[in-house]
Amino acid sequence: MIFELPKWYDLHVHFRQGDSMADYIQDHLNMGCCGALAMPNTKPPVSHVHGKNTEEYWTVESYLKDMESAGSKAFDDIIAPLYLTNATTKDMIIEGTKSGILRACKYYPPHGTTNSEHGAGLDTYINNGVFAAMSDAGIVLNIHGEEHGLSGEEYFGEQSNAEDSFYKNHMPQLVEKFPNLKIVCEHITTKTAVDFVKNSGNNIAATITPQHLLYTVADLLQGLKYHLYCLPLVKFEKDRTALLEAAKSGNVKFFAGTDSAPHTTKATACGCAAGCYTGGIAPQLYADAFNLNEDNFDEFKKFLCLNGPQFYGIPVSNKTFTLTKKPSQPSVASGAIPLHIGLGQKNLAWTLTL
Ligand SMILES: [Zn+2]
Repeated sequence: MIFELPKWYDLHVHFRQGDSMADYIQDHLNMGCCGALAMPNTKPPVSHVHGKNTEEYWTVESYLKDMESAGSKAFDDIIAPLYLTNATTKDMIIEGTKSGILRACKYYPPHGTTNSEHGAGLDTYINNGVFAAMSDAGIVLNIHGEEHGLSGEEYFGEQSNAEDSFYKNHMPQLVEKFPNLKIVCEHITTKTAVDFVKNSGNNIAATITPQHLLYTVADLLQGLKYHLYCLPLVKFEKDRTALLEAAKSGNVKFFAGTDSAPHTTKATACGCAAGCYTGGIAPQLYADAFNLNEDNFDEFKKFLCLNGPQFYGIPVSNKTFTLTKKPSQPSVASGAIPLHIGLGQKNLAWTLTL
């Protein structure tokens, strides 16, 4: 059985910076991507819109040019969100929107994940007019939805965790204050977040990664498979089931965003960098999670190829690629270790052909 699909947009990916960027982009092209939303947590962060890069910050304008030099011209479209920091102003949003360069902004909880030490709390942008300006301008807010500053049991406990508490204690107020703000709840991992998105208006959507559809914290802990260590952490079976149901439901609010994140050094003596690398292999993993077949092909196509562009107002690609249920051993152009190899698997269950 061969499944033909339109080329798709990875609406959450880390292409990083420097020489390796070209290989990471190539891995995405090789897996049928026709575009991406490239996250701004570079060093320094992409926290201004116009002009040249400086030592303190990069600009959306320059980062887009860097990616173009690294091969992103082969995509139909690429979005580079602005990293929200204490330096973000509502004028930046207004001017960035006018010029057409600004299309989205990324909220990182302070110190929540890789290179996220520049973020400020939600209240900052609620009070300084940034969210209001985004709402007026139709700029999408990409949210890393984890409460910051928690410890121990509150961070990852039996009853609750950082994501649970963010979607219970912060998102309802945010949506109440800015009912028209377009929000993508990025890489959701819990039933709580799934329910929140389902029960919100059509301006609220979510990306889901392949690893959160396939694995739970038990898979991470059994053998301490650190290649599965990403943030937010993989959770419990009830959460995985809720994510899978949402992805397979055909609901337009849920779409693919891999959060693919290469690390040159994954584990060190004092910890482990967060992020799974799924460049080159993501559609195969999503197909595996769906157990893709004739009966759920329409829902799979919506999740991978249609819902995301629709939310962002991007045309669906008229180019195609195929997936076949046949084991494959894809090699990646970059030196990054793809997730399945990191988990000790040789083959993927699916073969992707461009
Ligand atoms: Zn990410």
